[in-house]
Amino acid sequence: MFICGGCQFYTNSFEAFVEHRQIPCSSKSQKSEGEPEIFRCFTCSNAFNTSWELLFHLRVSHEITMYKNLKDKVAA
Ligand SMILES: [Zn+2]
Ligand SMILES: [Zn+2]
Repeated sequence: MFICGGCQFYTNSFEAFVEHRQIPCSSKSQKSEGEPEIFRCFTCSNAFNTSWELLFHLRVSHEITMYKNLKDKVAA
């Protein structure tokens, strides 16, 4: 995986990365990293302020453990 130090753009393709580096990184790129401001339940669309509240909600209301899904996404 290639990550642009200028704008955090990342890709698995070397060609795409080189192509990206040929143009100046424009101001604010992609979406900013970190956690989103609101955590929305993908099952019932309830919104929560923290990931923990959402995780708790998922576990209690839907009996889902989202942690695994998150990890899978990050690893992908
Ligand atoms: Zn860049
Ligand atoms: Zn829910």
